Amino acid sequence: MNKIPDATPEIVEQIRPEVVAQRVESVRARIAQACERAGRSPDDLTLVAISKTFPMQAIASGTAAGLAHFGENRARQLRDKAKARPGAFEGGDVTWHMVGHLQRNKAKYVARHADWFDALDSPRLANELNKRAAKNDRVMPCLVQVNITGQDQKYGLAPEAVHDYLDHCAQYDHLAIKGLMALASFVDDPEEVRGEFREMRTLFETYDATNNPQVTMEELSIGMSNDFEVAIEEGSTMVRLGTSIFGPRDYD
Ligand SMILES: *Cc1c(COP(=O)(O)O)cnc(C)c1O
Repeated sequence: MNKIPDATPEIVEQIRPEVVAQRVESVRARIAQACERAGRSPDDLTLVAISKTFPMQAIASGTAAGLAHFGENRARQLRDKAKARPGAFEGGDVTWHMVGHLQRNKAKYVARHADWFDALDSPRLANELNKRAAKNDRVMPCLVQVNITGQDQKYGLAPEAVHDYLDHCAQYDHLAIKGLMALASFVDDPEEVRGEFREMRTLFETYDATNNPQVTMEELSIGMSNDFEVAIEEGSTMVRLGTSIFGPRDYD
């Protein structure tokens, strides 16, 4: 069954090109201000538009507004959207990121259709994804997900386990680990998660990849709609924005 969500009239209205373009413009302005405060260039930041739960019109509106990176958190929804609009790995003009937890039996979809897998979080999953990437004759860019909030999150490695895990990944010839990803605690005031972002940056900067050919620490994927400015101030290179680009969702 096709897993692309229905394009109901209400949703199509919510994500029409002019509306998305306006949201992207306002997000870009906020990104530029946060970069300025941090003495950074907006060119060093990738905006991943999280299109989960939205129909293909979201991708059309996003690309019309100049976006090229899109993120999904369900493997089969990503698969079907990437079939409709292929990512760079399949010769297309967008870049698909799988940003959600992946069950091993769905790793095949990600290795086949996603450009990036941003939520690597266990040895068994790395092993399976490595095998699937090999079958597709590719080296798959990945980020390791860190559970930076403690017990209130289900997924991600404990911060103290991350460097050992990166060492462990040295054996996977078909994975290219390019950095770390995390979701901060859900709070009303984003200042409250500044400490979590700092902890992520420390983990990111202190890993020594010299003897690990599969790891290069290039990307720190932190920051979502409610906290991306703080994340940028603390060193994010990749923000993942859903609500602030496409408006509210009914579900995750
Ligand atoms: C849904 C989701 C986002 C985007 O969330 P918003 O708060 O709507 O910006 C970012 N990252 C992941 C992993 C997600 O699942």
